[in-house]
Amino acid sequence: MSKIIRLTTRLANQIAAGEVVERPASVVKELLENSLDAQATRLDVDVEQGGVKLLRIRDNGLGVNEADLPLTIARHATSKIHELEDLEGVTTLGFRGEALASISSVSRLSLTSSDNQSGAGWCVQAEGRDMEAVLLPAAHPQGTTVEVRDLFFNTPARRKFLRTEKTEFSHLEEIVKRLALSHFDVGFTLRHNQRVVHALRSATTEAEQDRRVATLCGPNFIESAVRIDTQTDELRLWGWMGLPTFSRSQADLQYFFVNGRSVKDKVVNHAVRQAYRDVMYHGRHAAFVLYLELDPKGVDVNVHPTKHEVRFRESRQVHDFLYRSLHRAIAEMSPADSQPVNQ
Ligand code: ADP
Ligand code: MG
Repeated sequence: MSKIIRLTTRLANQIAAGEVVERPASVVKELLENSLDAQATRLDVDVEQGGVKLLRIRDNGLGVNEADLPLTIARHATSKIHELEDLEGVTTLGFRGEALASISSVSRLSLTSSDNQSGAGWCVQAEGRDMEAVLLPAAHPQGTTVEVRDLFFNTPARRKFLRTEKTEFSHLEEIVKRLALSHFDVGFTLRHNQRVVHALRSATTEAEQDRRVATLCGPNFIESAVRIDTQTDELRLWGWMGLPTFSRSQADLQYFFVNGRSVKDKVVNHAVRQAYRDVMYHGRHAAFVLYLELDPKGVDVNVHPTKHEVRFRESRQVHDFLYRSLHRAIAEMSPADSQPVNQ
């Protein structure tokens, strides 16, 4: 008798969900990235009970047409890459075609969308069932609304790992914050239990960008930071560097984006730490919001399903550029500014 069975689609998706859907914050990350990939300029995020009861994300992006709608929640279905070569220079935040399939297998998900201005669209629903998509006509302006209710309702083991409403919401807010810091041209609102937590208008001028950073990272940071912008033929680094006097006891105000994607990277961390080494007391941490831009072909983003990690093709070159740029900027800060002060 055969001992091997094929997993049902739902079970396969639930297993895959383990990799990317850890908590409400991970759902928000995937949904907001989809909206940004669809060129949305306005994003509204509604959260109830830390996101466990409800997450609703509404965007004004390109939308999805009726024919594509069932495919949005199918596994390994994406509009973002077509062949392996596309992966090499991928510029979208998503490309794996797995997030909506995974999320819909562990929640009650509905996606309503319209790809035109007629006011009419379609809704697809999948309630953690055997991935049978139900399609219904629905009124919707151009763009997409995704609702995720009762996260992990059918995976109690996962649900058990969720923390308090407050903790889950703070993780989620951190995700929104990172995306708001890397997409200044997009307006964001975030509401928790009907209370407005953030309402950020799109920020195009430098002053508006400063204001957004002040809102998200605190006015003290922006007052104690310098703006940098430096580039070579291949690499550009810009953003805000905290003065050494603004050192922190924790590494909790360190944002680094590579081509608009928030990453945690050893090469980057090392270069930054080295650059600040001489002006920072041992055990203190620098604060920064920095953006590295390079040819997408020079960085592999398909290292981990959550895409928090990247691999640079020329990691030595990237490291040296970062170190040199930051070190120079620190040296140019006025000597009084760069004396280490223990706060
Ligand atoms: P991926 O983002 O890796 O392609 P997803 O499972 O996150 O995979 O989404 C599947 C597809 O659904 C996307 O490729 C896109 O075509 C479509 N989609 C999802 N969300 C949106 C949205 N907010 N607006 C427009 N299209 C969307
Ligand atoms: Mg996606």
